[in-house]
Amino acid sequence: MEKVAVIGSGTMGNGIAHVFAQKGFGVSLIDVSEGALQKGLQTISTNLDRQVKKEQLTPEQKQAALERIIPYTTMADGLQDIVLVVEAATENVDIKLGIFSQLDALCPPGTILTTNTSSISITRVGSVTKRPEKVIGMHFMNPVPVMKLVEVIRGYATSDATAAQVMEIARQLDKTPVEVNDYPGFVANRILMPMINEAIYTLYEGVAGVMEIDTVMKLGMAHPMGPLQLADFIGLDVCLAILRVMHEGLGNPKYAPCPLLVNMVQAGHLGSKAGMGFYHWQKEHKDLHPAPRFRK
Ligand code: NAD
Repeated sequence: MEKVAVIGSGTMGNGIAHVFAQKGFGVSLIDVSEGALQKGLQTISTNLDRQVKKEQLTPEQKQAALERIIPYTTMADGLQDIVLVVEAATENVDIKLGIFSQLDALCPPGTILTTNTSSISITRVGSVTKRPEKVIGMHFMNPVPVMKLVEVIRGYATSDATAAQVMEIARQLDKTPVEVNDYPGFVANRILMPMINEAIYTLYEGVAGVMEIDTVMKLGMAHPMGPLQLADFIGLDVCLAILRVMHEGLGNPKYAPCPLLVNMVQAGHLGSKAGMGFYHWQKEHKDLHPAPRFRK
């Protein structure tokens, strides 16, 4: 059995561990927080149950997948015989650079080191290791067990062999990998974030209301949800951070975040996780309601 390690057991890490284990890989799931590990394992179990209910998996396959995941709270214990690492820890440059220099010291020289970062330069992450040719982005989408895309991001020094191996591993997970180069925002966020920012400007300038903007994009462009709703799901703090990386990294004013987005983040209206963003998120309401500030 091939073994991989997943660093970080939050939203993305537990989904990534889930798909590797389901496809027969042994998984070391590593998080600094014991609580996050337990929560991650519980989420994986609940999501596997959902697949059993839909008859995509048998109860035995669910059990076998869970047994292939071993949790660890320190990296030194979970990295023996690992062919590939997927780092999915908190989106913070210092944390990621620290993790990659530790991984480089602890993993066998042949191990490929990947990061699920949404916005940090793969080239920069690779530069703190002695194996930049084996460092690459593996950008899964949320929710990982459902979404087909993996954006495979080649750093400046990533080798052809590493890129080919990671593309193949993504296919083994039943995902569709797409190879892109390492520039701010990669492809997914380079295109998505300006659209979200423009939707926020459209609201800010009073062109239309929250529901109207999202309805135009849902019904007019066949998007499954509108850009403001999507921004609330992603987290407005995350959207702002990615826009700032693109604004700074590409040096073009077209990526400047809308002042309304900046204000909302400063006010703590971060979207669905905060209960308030462009919409008012209440468990008891199934229908979408704009936040009080955006009601006519
Ligand atoms: P999260 O906050 O849900 O989880 C991060 C986890 O990392 C936490 O459990 C934390 O305890 C752990 N962690 C922090 N420092 C660590 C360390 N040194 N070693 C091990 N674990 C550590 O975050 P998330 O939303 O899962 O995001 C993880 C990564 O995935 C980020 O780089 C983010 O940009 C990227 N990403 C997120 C999404 C999304 O929709 N949430 C989508 C694509 C990519």
